[in-house]
Amino acid sequence: HLSKRLQTVSEHVEPGSRLADIGSDHAYLPVYLAANQIISYGVVGEVARGPLANATCEIQRAGLAEILHPRLADGLAAIKDGDDIDAITIAGMGGILITHILETGKQKLTGKEKLILQPNVGANVVRQWLMDNRYQLSAEQILEEEGHIYEILTAKKVAAPVSYTEKQLRFGPYLLAEKTPAFVAKWTSERSQLQRIIDNMKLATSPDQEKIERIERDIQMINEVIHVES
Ligand code: SAM
Repeated sequence: HLSKRLQTVSEHVEPGSRLADIGSDHAYLPVYLAANQIISYGVVGEVARGPLANATCEIQRAGLAEILHPRLADGLAAIKDGDDIDAITIAGMGGILITHILETGKQKLTGKEKLILQPNVGANVVRQWLMDNRYQLSAEQILEEEGHIYEILTAKKVAAPVSYTEKQLRFGPYLLAEKTPAFVAKWTSERSQLQRIIDNMKLATSPDQEKIERIERDIQMINEVIHVES
């Protein structure tokens, strides 16, 4: 039984894919996909020994050792020549770490892989990396589970330059077009946090006016998105 978060990630993996799940921990996602015959081959990458042991244990227990290959490796270094990977999942980490894994592992990317990324925070950083590296978003989802809000981004390499506006990078082009209740909840909460920061800054003896104005512009952008435009 997968969490709603991983279930949603799994739905973006196309049947027949050869998957690399990077930072897999218990390997719940690849085990689910292999057990349901959605993937025919999977690399299960982990940088830490404890999580790798968890992954290996789950794979053995599910009897999937012929399909899923646990490997101790930093990021995309888990992928070897001949794996012929066409889908990469990186889930449950911050956007900065996901971006770092993609950037440092760039030479492993052939361009045919579908990227399925689930940043816990900092989705904007991931979108910026995708844009800078000619990956076009093909879908975005936002969901709420146990009080947390998660975003899932999928992308494919394209030939032409990719360009998103500042607003699209921040909110997500697909999410912005949909404005689901989870999206509104996320940005309402972000706005309250920013407002609290400003309120505290204004109490200082010499408030950083420039920073306050920058945050006020941030809040204004959120207001435009969750009020006026909807
Ligand atoms: N992907 C699973 C999920 O979404 O439930 C597990 C997420 S877990 C919070 C993050 C995992 O990423 C940890 O097990 C950690 O060891 C691993 N990790 C962090 N940096 C990594 C890297 N550079 N390469 C591979 N794995 C990494």
